[in-house]
Amino acid sequence: DQPLEQLDPEIHAAIGAELGRQRDTLELIASENFAPSAVMEAQGSVLTNKYAEGYPGRRYYGGCEHVDTVERLAIDRVKELFGAEYANVQPHSGAQANAAAMVALLEPGDTILGLDLAHGGHLTHGMRLNYSGKLYNVVPYHVGEKDFRVDMAEVERLALEHRPKLIVAGWSAYPLHLDFAEFRRIADLVGASLMVDMAHFAGLVAAGLHPNPVPHADVVTTTTHKTLGGPRGGVILTNRADLAKRLNSAVFPGQQGGPLEHVIAAKAVSFKVAASEEFRDRQERTLEGARILAGRLLADDVQDAGITVLTGGTQVHLVLVDLRDSELDGKQAEDRLHSVGLTVNRNAVPFDPRPPMVSSGLRIGTPALATRGFGADEFTEVADIIAAALTEKPTDETTASLRGRVADLAKAFPLYPGAK
Ligand code: PLP
Repeated sequence: DQPLEQLDPEIHAAIGAELGRQRDTLELIASENFAPSAVMEAQGSVLTNKYAEGYPGRRYYGGCEHVDTVERLAIDRVKELFGAEYANVQPHSGAQANAAAMVALLEPGDTILGLDLAHGGHLTHGMRLNYSGKLYNVVPYHVGEKDFRVDMAEVERLALEHRPKLIVAGWSAYPLHLDFAEFRRIADLVGASLMVDMAHFAGLVAAGLHPNPVPHADVVTTTTHKTLGGPRGGVILTNRADLAKRLNSAVFPGQQGGPLEHVIAAKAVSFKVAASEEFRDRQERTLEGARILAGRLLADDVQDAGITVLTGGTQVHLVLVDLRDSELDGKQAEDRLHSVGLTVNRNAVPFDPRPPMVSSGLRIGTPALATRGFGADEFTEVADIIAAALTEKPTDETTASLRGRVADLAKAFPLYPGAK
């Protein structure tokens, strides 16, 4: 049984290079984070060898006594974390959690309401090429053209007009809280189910720093790897006893075969971490960092360059930068930040005049750097570097100087110090 370095030097080298990239650059992609070493240890364990189709206590394979312990711990912890009565921790990803939830709640051809992808929604909320757009009749809702806030009057109007079976609330690129109670009211008005996809903000909810959708929704789905900071994966929660069984059979055998018990173990570890004081402190720094970034990008020197912040601020872990009046498009801005060692992603802004591959926006998030240990001082420095990179003419000297400032921050907060 050879170590990876000997058995497969090419993969070993690529992993080492990726560790170097994560260490030496500053990660500002809003959907990314750094899982604790203990989470990766659980995920890299012998549990990867085990088949366990079914659920704890009711498996289709023998030898499941230990994976039953693991999965029960994951279920109990995530229920406690979010105050939910029932949980399914088996979805392999957020997309699979959403697919299973829709299978449990809908028949093909049913109508769903979801936030338009171009306005901050997710592929699985009804995008044309996604299963959700192919299986269901999708009616997208939008943000307002002036305030960029989800237009609840439009949601109500569309609900009354189209009588959807399901309303999906949730987003991949939106900087404000959603009004879950108002979504519930509209769903009840037309007899629809309400599903909240809290993939992006689940860590904030766990820390008590964001409204919890669980009391309002029929079903809540999430990923475990964004603000929540665990392994890549999905979870489904509900308080409805009548739905719990349907959701379980929609995941298995509906959508998936054997659960990834090694990932479920890693999820359990991350739920334990998420219940800690240290995690709450991290989520507070995440929010503070995003507010500092938004504040800096709203300052006069940045506004003068035609760059602004959608909705004029943020209530969550990300900032949406609006470049529609800037000479930089999203691709150029992303490349410029990349050239100084900052990783962000370009993002279409609502009503974007540029095509999606270019776009007129950036999505900048703080969870990964907060996990790395950044607080107000470091986020202030990051915000200054971003402002300089986006507003000053790049020369070899200015680029080298900004790169140096990024390197200093990275060095001061070593990532996975023990790893090779
Ligand atoms: N839901 C939302 C709101 C997301 O932002 C994402 C990921 O970007 C997903 C679901 C899908 O998660 P995954 O990439 O694990 O399938």
